[in-house]
Amino acid sequence: MPEHARIRSIEGYHEAYHLSINHPEEFWASVAAPFTWRRKWDKVLSSDMPAGRNEWFQGARLNITENCLDRHLATRGNKLALIWEPNDPKQRHLRLTYRELHQQVCQFANVLHNNGVEKGDRVCIYMPMIPQLAVAVLACARIGAVHSVIFAGFSATAIADRVNDAQASVVLTADGLNRGPKQIPVKRVVDEALETCPSVRRVIVVEHLGWPVQMEEGRDVWYHEEVEGVAKTCPAEEMDAEDPLFILYTSGSTGKPKGVVHSTAGYMVWADYTFRNVFQVEENDIYWCTADVGWVTGHSYLLYGPLLAGSTSLMFEGVPTYPDAGRFWEVIDKHSVSIFYTAPTAIRSLMAAPLDNVLSYSLDSLRVLGSVGEPINEEAWHWYHTHVGKERCPIVDTWWQTETGGIMISALAGITPSVPARAGLPLPGVHPVLLTQEGQEIEGNDQEGYLAIKQSWPGIIRTTYGDHERAVQTYFSTYPGYYFTGDGARRDENGLYRIIGRVDDVINVSGHRFGTAEIENAINQNPNVVESAVVGYPHDVKGQGIYAYIICREGAFRNEADKPRVEASIIETVVAEIGKIAKPDKIQLVSGLPKTRSGKIMRRILRKVAEGETSSLGDTTTLLDPAVVDEIIKGKK
Ligand code: ATP
Ligand code: MG
Repeated sequence: MPEHARIRSIEGYHEAYHLSINHPEEFWASVAAPFTWRRKWDKVLSSDMPAGRNEWFQGARLNITENCLDRHLATRGNKLALIWEPNDPKQRHLRLTYRELHQQVCQFANVLHNNGVEKGDRVCIYMPMIPQLAVAVLACARIGAVHSVIFAGFSATAIADRVNDAQASVVLTADGLNRGPKQIPVKRVVDEALETCPSVRRVIVVEHLGWPVQMEEGRDVWYHEEVEGVAKTCPAEEMDAEDPLFILYTSGSTGKPKGVVHSTAGYMVWADYTFRNVFQVEENDIYWCTADVGWVTGHSYLLYGPLLAGSTSLMFEGVPTYPDAGRFWEVIDKHSVSIFYTAPTAIRSLMAAPLDNVLSYSLDSLRVLGSVGEPINEEAWHWYHTHVGKERCPIVDTWWQTETGGIMISALAGITPSVPARAGLPLPGVHPVLLTQEGQEIEGNDQEGYLAIKQSWPGIIRTTYGDHERAVQTYFSTYPGYYFTGDGARRDENGLYRIIGRVDDVINVSGHRFGTAEIENAINQNPNVVESAVVGYPHDVKGQGIYAYIICREGAFRNEADKPRVEASIIETVVAEIGKIAKPDKIQLVSGLPKTRSGKIMRRILRKVAEGETSSLGDTTTLLDPAVVDEIIKGKK
């Protein structure tokens, strides 16, 4: 494992942190030195934050796949790069060494070339979580094509929007996919989407389920036929440091998804540095990130980060609850996973199942646990810590965004403090500040404000595809000179950051400001509750009232008449936890919440419903289950 720039102690953290903030160019030049560069940079950083212009390692030439693959061949050629665990536990898993992955990537890169893909072309990838997905992503990077991975659960409309926005010429997909007990005919969804996508001239299809599919003459070809007899070596395209590596659309929880663009060199250095330090990775670790590659976490911490570091990364096709709620734990024991990185939504869904599902596995191999995607509520944190980590594994609660390319605020496992409901200290290179609404920096600890980042870091978003003005508007103009995160945060008495939630999720009740997460945390303490989502709505007297949507445990109430008792008990809990002022004005018991595919609650929809504005819900194409919305509208209080 590269020891270079590796933080090993709290003193080492402070030292690295101060150097990175006071002398960023010196710091990052040193971090970046051991990568494979075709040409070294002329200048480490040039940044004009108000214009949203950030360039890292200007003038350098490289290819990221040489750093993910070729660089490791001499010393790690026979080491496992990928372990693939299928949806069905009875089916065989698959292992790929660095040498094998290198060959497959080179071979498919040649296939892309043969199909007319050139440097700078955009390739959309709509594929199940199978090894060919990893190969496809890296093959694009090998020849300098810009990949845009679309989560293979999005609707035809959502695909068409993204394909058209990126003007992609090629789409990579599969005949179908497994998701738990369900099979989904992916190719059919692509066919429907492409009816409105004139830029696409080639579709390459992986045969995964062996289902019959319609192949359009002259447009569609099979992956397995295309790779036949094709060479397994392929020279890597030499890229400029600032050439785009990929486009990835945000989850859309706050509005229309944005095509976030990341560059080559800065992203590479950031993904590698954050991966090795946050998880404190060692050479023999088996690392598992449960995120889909259709999400930024899958980009930075399933593929690029682990491969850059020469680690073994596990890729899982299935879901946490199939065939039962013990699947994650079974996979951990089966492959001796030592580092496990998942999302609070998954933890909560497993918490709701009988405890035996987790207690019947040993989980002895685990060393470090991670969480990402939303604030992890205290109850879930403790459950994770006690039953999964056996009180032995540090938890890293990693705060970051699609736009930040990699982890920004988090504990470094076992080194910097890990406290429930705190993301922790900023990583070296990250200078967070809390701002007042007017943009004044708030000094000192025990303070709350709008979270912004004061100086450029290597993984910062470069632009929103095809519309730089949108990037400037969204991230760089609210508070000129800062990158604005859109999140609210609290710096506690020890300087640790706690992410409160989206700024527009703050509710102002009679002059008292609450983060929605705070009230949800309180509600979730009630033994009847599985999950909740709180929003504000206009209230004549208080300014804003509190509207709570709550999912109860099975058996929490027997019938309609029983509901008031449950609601009263929930209100009692909130009063006990926070106080009367935070008492929900309206409670609606629901069977599900509108979530994005990455597990985030779309509060903007819940807000609209609470406000009674159900005719203008905005973009809902990224919802996991649109039917939930209808149910919620019908049951509105
Ligand atoms: P859009 O910008 O289109 O609304 P999105 O913000 O949901 O989409 P992501 O970039 O995946 O898409 O999500 C980043 C957001 O997720 C952060 O701004 C933050 O609100 C939340 N988040 C991620 N990790 C954490 C964490 N560890 N703690 C608290 N919040 C987190
Ligand atoms: Mg966002």
